[in-house]
Parts: sequence; C-alpha cells; structure tokens
Amino acid sequence: MKIYNSLSRSRKKEEFIPIEPGKVKMYVCGPTVYNYFHIGNARTFLFFDVVRRYFEFKGYEVIYVQNITDIDDKLIKQSIKEKIPFSEIAEKYIKAFFDDIKALGLKEATFYPKATEYMNEMIDLIAELEKKGFAYEKNGDVYFSVNSFKDYGKLSEKKLDELKTGARVEANLQKRHPADFTLWKKAKPNEPSWQSPWGKGRPGWHTECVVISRKILGESFDIHCGAVDLIFPHHENEIAQAEALSGKPFVNYWMHGGFLNISGEKMSKSLDNFFLARDVLKKFDAEAIRFFFLSKNYRSSIDFSEDILKESAQAMKNLYSFLKGVNYLSFMHEKACYSDEQLEFKGYFEDAMENDFGTAKAIAILFTITQKIQWYLRYDPENQDYKQYAHLLVELGRVLGFFSNLEEKLKQNLSDISEELIELLIRYRSIFKQEKNWKYADQIREDLDKLGIKLKDTKTGTEWSLDR
Ligand code: AMP
Ligand code: ZN
Repeated sequence: MKIYNSLSRSRKKEEFIPIEPGKVKMYVCGPTVYNYFHIGNARTFLFFDVVRRYFEFKGYEVIYVQNITDIDDKLIKQSIKEKIPFSEIAEKYIKAFFDDIKALGLKEATFYPKATEYMNEMIDLIAELEKKGFAYEKNGDVYFSVNSFKDYGKLSEKKLDELKTGARVEANLQKRHPADFTLWKKAKPNEPSWQSPWGKGRPGWHTECVVISRKILGESFDIHCGAVDLIFPHHENEIAQAEALSGKPFVNYWMHGGFLNISGEKMSKSLDNFFLARDVLKKFDAEAIRFFFLSKNYRSSIDFSEDILKESAQAMKNLYSFLKGVNYLSFMHEKACYSDEQLEFKGYFEDAMENDFGTAKAIAILFTITQKIQWYLRYDPENQDYKQYAHLLVELGRVLGFFSNLEEKLKQNLSDISEELIELLIRYRSIFKQEKNWKYADQIREDLDKLGIKLKDTKTGTEWSLDR
C-alpha cells in the first residue's frame, strides 16, 4: 500500500507499514463546533472515511479518532452573537455535526474526544514543555519557542528566517521569535476560562490535537489527516510540541486532502463562499455527493459544481437501476464465490486503492464490472457467472461507502420512471388549475387517488404520497 506522505522529502509515495501489525491508528482533525460544517469540510471527512473503510476491508483493525473543538475564539464570538453560553453553542453544533455526518453516510469514529474534556492534560503538557525549556510565559500567555526545537518547519518546509520576515506585520513584542505560537492564552474579562499555573485562560488549538492524539493513540501513531490548509501552522505546531517532548516521530504518515473550491477559491466560512453540507444534502443524495468527491483525486482541488453533482446522481442511479435490472434482490443473500477472473478484477480495484487511494480509478473498475455483467446477459445468458460479478460490484462499491441501504433501495416498489410520471401528471394538473379548468384538474386527482396516490397542495407546490 502506497501513501503520499506530506512529510516525505522525496515527495514520493511511500510504502505503508503500520507501527503495530494489523492495526491502523489514525487521527483526523475535526470540526470547530461554532456553526454547521460546509460541503468543503465534508469532502475531507468523507475521503478519510473511505481510507478507513479500505483498511478495514483489508482486515486491519482501525482506531479512528476525530476530535471536536468545543472551545476557541470562533465559538466565543458566536456565543456573543447568539447570546448563549459557549457550551450551549457547542452542544447545538455537536448535535448538528453528528446529524450531518450520519446523513452523509460516514462511519462512526472509534472516538470523538472533545477539547474541554482534556483541559487538565493540556495544562500538564504545556507545563512540561515549559519545564523542559521549550515554552515560556509572558504576562499570563504561554508560547512555544520555535528556536528550541531544531526540526521546526520540517513538514511545511518553512525556514525560521522566512517566518521572521513574514510575521513582521503582526509583530507581537511579547514573543522571542515571531513564529513562536501560543500554547496558553490568557483570558480576557468575561471569557470562559480555566485555572492554570499561569492564571486563568485557555489552551490553543495546536495543543488540543497533540494531547488528545497522544492520550488515545500514544506518542507515535500511524496516520494524521486533514486538508492542506492544516499543514501550516496547525500540523507543524503539533509536531513541534509532540516531538519536543517525546524525542520520537509523532506521526509516520501525514495525509492532506485538496480543497473544494468555488470558482477557483477555497470554500470557507471566512470568505463567505460556502454551501452547508446539510443544504446540499437537501438537493442531492449522500451517495451522489460521495460519487462526486471520489471520482476525483483526493489531493487535487476541485470546483463545486451542481452540474457534476447531477451527473454523479445519474451515475449512482444507473448503478442501482443496473442492480434492479439483474434482479440482484433475488440472489443478494447467496454467498459470493469468485472465480480467478473475478479475483483479478478485485485485484485491479485493490491496485487502484493501494496507489495512494486512487478512488477515481476504483470507481471506473466498478463500471467495468457492470460492462462485464452486460456482456454475460447478452452473449451467454445461461451462464450464472454474472451473479458473482454483481456480488463483486456490491462488495467493492461498499468499500467506497456506496450501497449502504441497498436492500431497501432495491425493494422500492416504484421505479424512477413511475415517480417521474406522477410528477408529470402533477405538472399537467397545475397547468389545468392555472387555466381554471377545474374539471380536468380534479379528474387527475381522482384518478391518482384510485391508484392509491394521494395529492396534497401546499404553499410550495403539490406533494404526493403512496396510500396503500
Ligand atoms: P475547520 O472546521 O475549518 O477546522 O475544518 C475542518 C476540516 O475541513 C479540516 O481538516 C480542514 O482542513 C478541512 N477543510 C476546510 N475547508 C476545506 C475546503 N474548502 N475543502 C476541503 N477541506 C476543507
Ligand atoms: Zn488538529
């Protein structure tokens, strides 16, 4: 298995070797819960969900940690804006976070630790850094001294001299070096705070991820993930703290995903150019969103596009229609038993995924399998091999997170075309209504009613339901 490791100087993909055989310990920087997350954040969360699924498919036990930042500047600002305590803001958006990741079809992480649950441990770690000469206090704030850690800049390839020049504009005279970063922040009046050896305050975000990952996964673990914006300063500053203390490599593989952009610009809350994941989910099925993201390389940036989302929705629809067409329901519970040729296809899929998670190629292989099935149905209809290919299609699709409610979807007693026909009749009925042709409008309602299809007129249009 080859992984593009952002830490690798050669910028080459590296062979993945877990610290403990058969186990993968991974940590994904999670959300700051001051708002709903956007579809750009969803791209990152969703991709690492697939990384985890693939390792599990290969038989690894995966410990998957995603932290929740439930205290920081943005939360405090939002609590002032919404006029409720920061803890209630956090609670509200943590619930929303769980609702949204479930709706996106993400697997539950093994742990969702919250920053506020690790306050004592964070204070202890900062105190230890101070004791060992890696940190210093100035007027109630504590800073990490970048000059004290010789490898500072190794992930982002930044030099301390460059950082000195770059930071001049926002010079903080308390710091010994402009790149020194805050470990502990003194509380301003009325801000939420915790008691510490340096007075009342709160820890910085970079300390949070170090403390939580060390506590749950140990001083060294396998994979640390996020999008590229986290390389500097967040992940660089995590490495500095962790390795200053342990003297060992903090993380063996750093994986960073590309951005989801809007018109070429990073989707972000601060630029106000975002769509919330929950809003996109109102328009598009979770699997269409998944298809859209996975059909591109995870490291390249992509532009958000409703047109491509529509195409992705159609592609997913085609896969489902295909499985309906071969009556997969009638044999889905039979045990799969693959021939050498089918195992070869499985091998191609694994090769694609093991080349730094080539999900786009993996998806292409799913479609090649559908072509194979079509070939059998057309040229060798008596041969039952097509069933094994259908099993393979579903098994591999599930590794990518597709087909989660397959049985239900296949059992839906209305085909898409029937739904479209009902909607067509509703459109005709509304034209009749606009033309005040009540007779035909009512006739359509009555005829549909006889078929067990009930119409309900609402402010936003006519809704239909099955009444059987
Ligand atoms: P944040 O809440 O901003 O810390 O972001 C949570 C996660 O989403 C982090 O891993 C970020 O790197 C990632 N992220 C933020 N914006 C984007 C974007 N436009 N595209 C992809 N990932 C993003
Ligand atoms: Zn983090």
